Amino acid sequence: MSGPKHSCGVVGIAADSDVANALYTALMIIQHRGQESAGISVYDGAAIETVKGDGLVDVAIPKDKLATLDGKVGIGHVRYATTGSKGYINAQPLTVKTAFGMLSVAHNGDVTNYLSLREKYMREGRTFLTDSDSELILKLISKHMAVTDDPVGSIRSAMGEMDGAYSLAVLMNDRLFAVRDPYGFRPLCLGKVYGGYMICSESTAIDALKGEFVRDIEPGEICEVTKDGYKVYPMERDHPRARCMFEWVYFARPDSVIDGREVYDVRRSIGKILARECPADVDLVMPIPDSGRAHAIGYALAAGIPYEEGFMKNRFAGRTFILPEQKMREAAVSTKMIPIKSTVSGKRIMIIDDSIVRGTTLKILVSMLRDAGAKEVHVRIGSPPIVAPCYYGVDMKTRDQFIANHYSIDGIREQIGADSLGYISIEGLVEAIGFKADDLCLACTNGKYPTRIEGEEYRF
Ligand code: AMP
Repeated sequence: MSGPKHSCGVVGIAADSDVANALYTALMIIQHRGQESAGISVYDGAAIETVKGDGLVDVAIPKDKLATLDGKVGIGHVRYATTGSKGYINAQPLTVKTAFGMLSVAHNGDVTNYLSLREKYMREGRTFLTDSDSELILKLISKHMAVTDDPVGSIRSAMGEMDGAYSLAVLMNDRLFAVRDPYGFRPLCLGKVYGGYMICSESTAIDALKGEFVRDIEPGEICEVTKDGYKVYPMERDHPRARCMFEWVYFARPDSVIDGREVYDVRRSIGKILARECPADVDLVMPIPDSGRAHAIGYALAAGIPYEEGFMKNRFAGRTFILPEQKMREAAVSTKMIPIKSTVSGKRIMIIDDSIVRGTTLKILVSMLRDAGAKEVHVRIGSPPIVAPCYYGVDMKTRDQFIANHYSIDGIREQIGADSLGYISIEGLVEAIGFKADDLCLACTNGKYPTRIEGEEYRF
């Protein structure tokens, strides 16, 4: 559909002293949003300087290089990429020279009409260095800037051409802008930090910098941020909303608040609703760490069943989900988590996770629990069955990949070897998040897409 898929993290700070260290700290806090590459760009008074590289923040941005970044305004990025889109060339922020100076962008999301826009511009003779939709965003903004020399108007015009998901931190020389697509797929918020203001994918980074949360960037808004304040340019017309449900279910950190809904609280509510929708007679409730923890706490509280940590996770293990081959994923899951025998032996256990995609994780963990002596193993899931791909930045790509497209719920139960299996309903999930269903993107669970995508059902 588009180029590399990425549900990344962005940050931007304007302050009255150097911002590179604060950007680095903020990126560490949102590291869970992307582990493939990281980078920081700052405006040093004459030019935008960028340090970026592959890997985790502390590897991608070595301390000696960080120390070379002098500037009171800057942006940063952590990148979550999938096979085929790795490599330094796709690391962000992307920084270019233009007729009006320098322009740098950090992007979270996927522009769904990227290929057709790119082709259109290639036919006009423009060239592209990367496969990334972020480069297209740079080109769109600079094209409009060349005509109008109006940053806000140029970003607005670029937004008019793009469809899909984009939460952006944009640096135009010394001017910092936050941009959120009109659907509001990915989060973006604003905070006041010591000596200035910051924008960030997740509010927890504002807390980490001992700042004060100011507001969410609303869908469709452009917000210019300076050390002294901020100015919001809202969208002029009503536009449908499609906030990604998976941010609350899995992707964001539990201590973040997205659009007024704390992630931890939503996950706990999911657990409580699961307890109502899918009860079971068990001795204890256990999370799959760390993804199912808050859901499991909610379930245990609502059902009045003891909560135990029955799996210990190797905290240094990497992500198993993106390993390219099934055998590798299975091997990685089976060493990542080990059951505590004394907790599970002889018990009727319920385990809770946020989602089932291919079914790899649960198949292995259920059998490990049986080997450790569990009498019964019941499974509850904090999202409805995932049946359709995400085109807006979450790494869930092909229908064939999803176990729910191959088996009925009872068939999945059999495949993972559980005594019972229950998923939260779509209605239950919507109730837990607290927005109207129409204001959320639920496409991965119902196949109805909020933007036009060739071959897919359009929601409106
Ligand atoms: P699977 O093992 O394929 O069924 O995948 C489900 C597990 O992977 C759950 O523990 C989720 O927390 C996690 N997960 C789900 N979606 C993603 C994703 N897009 N990226 C990384 N991990 C994911």
